[in-house]
Amino acid sequence: MNSNEIDIHKELKKYFGFSQFKGLQEKVITSLLNKQNTFVIMPTGGGKSLCYQLPALVQEGTAIVVSPLIALMKNQVDAIRSLSSENGIAHVLNSSLTKTEIAQVKSDISAGITKLLYVAPESLTKEEYVAFLQTVPLSFVAIDEAHCISEWGHDFRPEYRNLKNIIKQLGEVPIIGLTATATPKVQEDILKNLEMANATTFKASFNRANLFYEVRTKTKNIESDIIRFIKQHKGKSGIIYCLSRKKVEAIAEVLQVNGISAVPYHAGLDAKTRAKHQDMFLMEDVEVVVATIAFGMGIDKPDVRFVIHHDIPKSLESYYQETGRAGRDGGEGHCLAYYSYKDVEKLEKFLSGKPVAEQEIGFALLHEVVAYAETSMSRRKFLLHYFGEEFDSETGEGADMDDNVRNPKTKVEAKDEVLKLLEVVKKTKH
Ligand code: ADP
Ligand code: MG
Repeated sequence: MNSNEIDIHKELKKYFGFSQFKGLQEKVITSLLNKQNTFVIMPTGGGKSLCYQLPALVQEGTAIVVSPLIALMKNQVDAIRSLSSENGIAHVLNSSLTKTEIAQVKSDISAGITKLLYVAPESLTKEEYVAFLQTVPLSFVAIDEAHCISEWGHDFRPEYRNLKNIIKQLGEVPIIGLTATATPKVQEDILKNLEMANATTFKASFNRANLFYEVRTKTKNIESDIIRFIKQHKGKSGIIYCLSRKKVEAIAEVLQVNGISAVPYHAGLDAKTRAKHQDMFLMEDVEVVVATIAFGMGIDKPDVRFVIHHDIPKSLESYYQETGRAGRDGGEGHCLAYYSYKDVEKLEKFLSGKPVAEQEIGFALLHEVVAYAETSMSRRKFLLHYFGEEFDSETGEGADMDDNVRNPKTKVEAKDEVLKLLEVVKKTKH
């Protein structure tokens, strides 16, 4: 089937009930239907799934979707099944299936019923599955969360490195890689590892114009500063990120004592408590969640009004993802980070216990955060530049939404800062 013969607008309405494509979706889908290798970089919530779901549904054969998390795969399979009367239209293939279930999956694929087959990368390496997949028609292979292939990404999975080898054994199929990680290094890694230098790349803007970026120097008064900030945002939902579980507990308690409804969230709490605290936040029984970075994956609360970083994040990439949980509905989102050089040293010390390669990457990422914290230029411009995006700090959307632009530093202050930064860079060079 040729892409020209498919009315993708009609299919969009039929399967998903939407009357318009979002952002670059239409272009991406057309590229994939034309059998091009395709690379998609869109922020979280941009609508990446539909970029492979729709082409899979309207073509002959089965599309293989590689995804790192079983929970994510299950969600997507349930969602796809709800679009069709045919249960077998989407399947998951993983280690949790029984023999009977596997037989059912295989028979649905062979019968041409299954349009989407979700697999974890480690399942795809199984010889038995590879041998089977070689015998059935495939439409394409989608690699979701493709940044997992890169050590420079925030979620490196070694098994992703093997994907290209396996895909090669499946014959000539187009590949679509998708990620919300926008750093040029990660992108390069993805294209290289998937041997997709020829891919057509679609990159959406990462500018979040409704977010206000601010950095404050961390002093011993940080707790009262945070309390004041929250009281100024009374009745609004917010997240406070801390580096350690201990700090999470301590800050949550300080807030409670000061009459702010807050709950802690970290991987040291049992699953039941975590789920309860997450629900309380989603249902607005509490205003604030104090959390480690364990909190946030898959959290889709549209009206988070502030994200505070009590400690500096490990990388600007993580900072972008974590602050990105604010203002999903397009309304106000205040992103406040506290910065002290002591925190940098703490993180460095932590990194120095790691294998050398990991250390080097860790230091490099950390120094970018330091530069962001210390800069006197437009923070939005700085962040977007980090993602390889040009931003005009005078006319760009959201240009005045940061502390540096609102209150520009005098030349003398700015020069002091540069000197300080040089000092930092010198000190952190190991
Ligand atoms: P991503 O994977 O890029 O983070 P998702 O694929 O999870 O994003 O999509 C985010 C949301 O956008 C979902 O709720 C999805 O239903 C919605 N969405 C996707 N495409 C469209 C569209 N064309 N019109 C309206 N909503 C859409
Ligand atoms: Mg996604």
